[in-house]
Amino acid sequence: CGIIGCIGRGDETLDTLVHGLEKLEYRGYDSAGIALLDEELSTCKTSGKIADLREKLDGRDLSGEVGIGHTRWSTHGPPTDENAHPHADCTGDIAVVHNGIIENYQPVRDELVADGHRFTSDTDTEVVPHLIESKLSAGLSPDEAFRETVDRLEGSYAIAALIEDADGLFVARNDSPLVVGLGAGASPDADGGAFFIASDVPAFRDFTGDVIYLEDGEFARLDGRLTVTDSQGSQVTKDVHTVEWDA
Ligand code: GLU
Repeated sequence: CGIIGCIGRGDETLDTLVHGLEKLEYRGYDSAGIALLDEELSTCKTSGKIADLREKLDGRDLSGEVGIGHTRWSTHGPPTDENAHPHADCTGDIAVVHNGIIENYQPVRDELVADGHRFTSDTDTEVVPHLIESKLSAGLSPDEAFRETVDRLEGSYAIAALIEDADGLFVARNDSPLVVGLGAGASPDADGGAFFIASDVPAFRDFTGDVIYLEDGEFARLDGRLTVTDSQGSQVTKDVHTVEWDA
């Protein structure tokens, strides 16, 4: 029931994500997982505790400039390793984490299955990577594919996606919290620095207290800079708030 993501943390990406998940533990969860994007995507996920995820990560050398993590509170499908997030498409080039409920997942899933997509989980979430995949293979850019995918969804969601071949992190929200953190060297209108996204500030409070709150219907792309757009695709300028309290 929590999301964390970061970009620009160099060798610290994996540690930053796991640390963020631990900070989100208070929200409750039954499974946890992470994905990092280097040249390729690497994913590690499990039912159970973050300690179980740490154990599974042990000995695996996951690196990447950008990554996402998730703690799951199951709504669709039992807490199994397969149902843990991140979820992938058929090619394994896309990784998605999601909090909330996609109300119309069944008709969307039926449509995708009829188109030849193979699902590996019982979750409502898994339609998201498959939808992105189908739109990419129809020739859309990663930005368009992500936006059109989210436009198809009904329900509540905070979503973060990694797409191979597209540097950076794609996020969207509706009726689920999602906040952006501006880390060392980051500013809302310049390149460079570290950025975070999370369902709640404590996930990254040890690294920054400068935050931007996304509104329902807004999209953000983080790829060395932050671009926030509204539901129509127009760029929006966001206020930066400074959180005074410590995590
Ligand atoms: N509905 C999704 C699932 O069951 C996400 C649940 C959550 O918010 O953690 O996997």
